[in-house]
Amino acid sequence: MGTDSLWIGPVMSLADVVLRLFLVQAAMAVVQLFSVRVTLTNTFEKVVYLLVFHVCFLMFTWTYWKSIFTPPASPCKKFQLSYSDKQRYEMEERPDAQKQILIEIAKKLPIFTRAQSGGRLTTIRFCDRCQVLKPDRCHHCSVCETCVLKMDHHCPWVNNCVGFANYKFFLLFLSYSMLYCIYIAATVFQYFFKFWVGDLPNSPAKFHVLFLMFVALMFFISLMFLFGYHCWLVAKNRSTLEAFSAPVFGSGPDKNGFNVGIRKNLEQVFGEDRRLWLIPVFTSQGNGHYFPLKSSSSDSQNPLLSNEDMWEESDDCSEEGSLVEDQDPSVTIEMEEE
Ligand SMILES: [Zn+2]
Ligand SMILES: [Zn+2]
Repeated sequence: MGTDSLWIGPVMSLADVVLRLFLVQAAMAVVQLFSVRVTLTNTFEKVVYLLVFHVCFLMFTWTYWKSIFTPPASPCKKFQLSYSDKQRYEMEERPDAQKQILIEIAKKLPIFTRAQSGGRLTTIRFCDRCQVLKPDRCHHCSVCETCVLKMDHHCPWVNNCVGFANYKFFLLFLSYSMLYCIYIAATVFQYFFKFWVGDLPNSPAKFHVLFLMFVALMFFISLMFLFGYHCWLVAKNRSTLEAFSAPVFGSGPDKNGFNVGIRKNLEQVFGEDRRLWLIPVFTSQGNGHYFPLKSSSSDSQNPLLSNEDMWEESDDCSEEGSLVEDQDPSVTIEMEEE
């Protein structure tokens, strides 16, 4: 995805325009509320209101920015077919032989999930358009036109794919948006009440008070449902796509296949250092190509079990720059011993 489309998209998106309008309104209303007619009289109160407002505003815009402008992470070169493999695959006309070729290539990679069609296991998941073997939890996004690691969904509000590279930012964006909305609603409430009982002086601030109260509450309530749903997903270690269609392993579909306990699930997204959980810097574990599986029992049923060791020894994905380029250098392969 080019830099141009990253810029044009958010500017054009209607959702984005609504959000921007809300931001401008919020800023204007705060100025109005502190102006002559509708105002706080206590200086201490003014300082506290403004300080808290700016902290919420800063965190909201920072996480929004990171959600929009973090490019989705795609599978590294190891998952692409080599020239010779590609020729072999394309020359082969029998579907069964093609599947066999893919299985052979996948033996060198930590791939545990399979494609399923018509109720029976078919083969290794392969993206025809990107010509890559899909790593576990990776899906092709038809809007971004690329395979996205641990794809969650393509989000029109941030005009970007939410996936491995920006899932933490997206969750923080939801939480700081809620905080921002509820703070605005709470601080505007006393003026809204005055308006209701007819005590509010007739000034332009009236419009801001009404607009802010309704829009802040409306956004807060809708975000609350989305945020609640994502908290549940993180606790269960599922992506939105996996919640709709369970990942398929050698032993069959298992919606809890990546669920390794609530604490580890949280750490996979937010990292081990709890001081960084609320800061929008990349701290998610691993490199998005491999995720620890639920239990050793499902591993043992997996014919590709030996892949894990081979992958650990020969991994150079992070060196090939396949991950988001401006990522934290701490993004390396971390194989968790289960
Ligand atoms: Zn693809
Ligand atoms: Zn996308």
